[in-house]
Amino acid sequence: MSRELLVVQRARKSFQTGKTKPLEYRIHQLKNLRRFISERQGDITEAVRRDLGKSENGTQLFETLGLEGEINLALEKLSEWAAPRMVEKNLLTISDEVYVQPEPLGVVLIIGAWNYPWAITLQPLVGAIAAGNAAVIKPSEVSSHSAKVMEELLPLYLDKDLYPVVTGGVSETQELLKQRFDHIFYTGGSAVGKIVMAAASCHLTPVTLELGGKSPCYIDKNCDIRVACRRITWGKFVNCGQTCIAPDFILCEPSVQSQVVEEIQKCIKEFYTDNPETFEDYGRIINQRHFKRLMALMEGSTVAVGGASDESQCYIAPTVLKDVTGDSKVMKEEIFGPLLPIITVSGVDEAIRFINEREKPLVIYVFSQDNKVTAGWVVTTVGTASTSSATCAAV
Ligand code: NAD
Repeated sequence: MSRELLVVQRARKSFQTGKTKPLEYRIHQLKNLRRFISERQGDITEAVRRDLGKSENGTQLFETLGLEGEINLALEKLSEWAAPRMVEKNLLTISDEVYVQPEPLGVVLIIGAWNYPWAITLQPLVGAIAAGNAAVIKPSEVSSHSAKVMEELLPLYLDKDLYPVVTGGVSETQELLKQRFDHIFYTGGSAVGKIVMAAASCHLTPVTLELGGKSPCYIDKNCDIRVACRRITWGKFVNCGQTCIAPDFILCEPSVQSQVVEEIQKCIKEFYTDNPETFEDYGRIINQRHFKRLMALMEGSTVAVGGASDESQCYIAPTVLKDVTGDSKVMKEEIFGPLLPIITVSGVDEAIRFINEREKPLVIYVFSQDNKVTAGWVVTTVGTASTSSATCAAV
């Protein structure tokens, strides 16, 4: 019998005792999770530093503050979320008392990704606990230090049978996916998303897939280009571009391209100094595989800013690429790193066409002072390639 099967069986047995039904139990576990985050902040920070070269401030800002906020929200709202909701009667239910009673689903699986290893893995856990589920937690093996700390320390705070952490790589995840779950919450790339969905279909298990995509920015020539570039520089290079909703590329008219390059260059210098390599708030690429992938994506494009790298440290400088085309290598997949290509278009109509010809992005960032320009995007293109984490958080 595999370890993964045992873990799932234990979680189900424990769930079936009805232990998670009372809200007091869930509240107790949520408070323990909050205590874990505050008491073990040092261990979490050190693990994220070793995984992604992130600073203490960066870890607080992007990993733990949001988690604490999520836990506090769940604690505040839990009784409201778990309460029965009255519904209107119809002909078929006219003589009944009719209401919808939220119920725990059972045993859920959470498969995390490496780019924000704590926030991405534990946020769905907050929803799962609040909803009264047992949850098997599978952190990404790519952020190995965070996975190890999670495996060692989380069981000191949470019920070990109901919320087990399973570490390991592809084979362990695939072994888990053979088991029957009542919901699977997956964050990661779409290739593995398809594997997860196929495995879930064998048991008709519902899934939440938090995927990626190439999120474009459109800079209208009449907007405040300085402000647009500041915002794009921040969103792009935070966590070295390893953010699912990071601006992936810029679309603008040829007449403003050099101003855009200049403004972004100024912001990079201001945010990360002349030498981002030694600046504590500029991290690293997660591993050499991704480093090599990113270096290969740059091939054939003109570097306008940055371009420096050091493979031994998985360092790539904040980099802007200019005069890129839709056929360039860097436009063939989600970049997920600190490369920012600029593609010139004749105006908003061509920008919208360019985006509509490709896979739906997670986000579109439009910078314009003209309401007609910003409104046009809403009806034409804005969409999301993934579902909201609220799906799993439903009680
Ligand atoms: P990853 O390599 O860590 O993989 C994600 C998970 O899939 C891991 O837990 C891993 O164990 C598992 N896995 C990998 N290969 C597998 C296989 N063959 N079979 C079964 N399981 C397997 O992460 P990644 O895919 O590199 O993640 C980055 C992607 O995640 C990007 O596309 C990013 O945009 C996306 N993402 C989305 C969100 C969101 O909220 N929408 C958030 C963060 C990241």
